[in-house]
Amino acid sequence: MRALCWVAAGELGVREVPDPELRNARDVIVRVRRSATSGGDLPLLSGRHPLLRAGDVLGAEFLGEVVEIGPGVRRHRVGDRVVVGASVACGGCWYCRQGRHSCCDNAHADLAGVDPDWTRSDAGCFGRPRAAGGFAGGHAEYVRVPYADVSAFRVPDGVDDDRAVFAADAAPSGWLAAEVGAVRPGDVVAIWGAGAVGQLTAWAAVRRGATRVLIVDRYEERLRMAERHCAAEPLDYRRDDIAAELRDRSGGRGPDVCVVAVGAPPARSVADRFGGQHADRPDALREAVHACRKSGMVVVLGGTAGFVDAFPLGALTERRLTLHGAGRPDLRDVPMLLDRMARDELRTEHLATHRLPLARGPEGYALFRDRADGCVRAVFTP
Ligand SMILES: [Zn+2]
Repeated sequence: MRALCWVAAGELGVREVPDPELRNARDVIVRVRRSATSGGDLPLLSGRHPLLRAGDVLGAEFLGEVVEIGPGVRRHRVGDRVVVGASVACGGCWYCRQGRHSCCDNAHADLAGVDPDWTRSDAGCFGRPRAAGGFAGGHAEYVRVPYADVSAFRVPDGVDDDRAVFAADAAPSGWLAAEVGAVRPGDVVAIWGAGAVGQLTAWAAVRRGATRVLIVDRYEERLRMAERHCAAEPLDYRRDDIAAELRDRSGGRGPDVCVVAVGAPPARSVADRFGGQHADRPDALREAVHACRKSGMVVVLGGTAGFVDAFPLGALTERRLTLHGAGRPDLRDVPMLLDRMARDELRTEHLATHRLPLARGPEGYALFRDRADGCVRAVFTP
């Protein structure tokens, strides 16, 4: 089959790779109908992940049709249209039983090979190198889905593919940000990054009762989109005094909850400048820590991949802030989000600004990486 693979730093290619096969009783094979670029892919493009190999198939966010099922699968049949959560999780370990699938103990096949200082036991993830379990991703014609009863979800009939594909990762990531940020009715929420996850964080914050959601970016199209679809107030950091605006729009205190959803910086510059270490972008994080009201909550979402320098620890402690990381969503929210999509309460299709055949995957990633031509997400069809 054909798949979009990592080839070398900065280079992707569509290659012929072996078809996936059932390996365990709880696996299914899915024929992919849609797959989307995601922010967590960007550190890969520069080759920053350990254990990345030429030929690794990318793609964390995808949707397709079940074409083969293992004998231990109970909830799926051949022909089911399913969205597959980005986290690979067993469903039975201590974390999974609490709904914390992204912390699963059993889906990280190659943990022993990972530098323990670099990252520690989170769940596996589709379309990531062996450092995240080595599960081939959805930018392919077919994918093996382990623990399918846990991670694959039937898509309601009324929800089309272009909407449902974002229930895999972007929508549950946004929901998780609002949840771990403990957004409450009346809160003012500030979000750095108006990409898909930032926008869906805004949507989720409004659903939880936030009265104002402020979103910070520098791309006009994204800011307008967040305003139109997610009721967020746009702030352009090239033009606006962000600290002053956030203070003024939150009664002088600062936002109750600050969410950093900037993902990874453009991959090219980082690899060149930092050689893969100290590569994460601290400016938005620092701004969030300084802007947040005293005893407020700062949430940092995924796409980060290493260390930051000059973290304002003093501000964190003196101002009694809580810092919450959320690198990858759990699976438990996917059915709820699909239901909201079916009720037309959650619309995500506008995020797929570019639709391309998989054969043009490298081009789609270049648009996505560079935020070119108003690209929020590129969505591929095999
Ligand atoms: Zn588990």
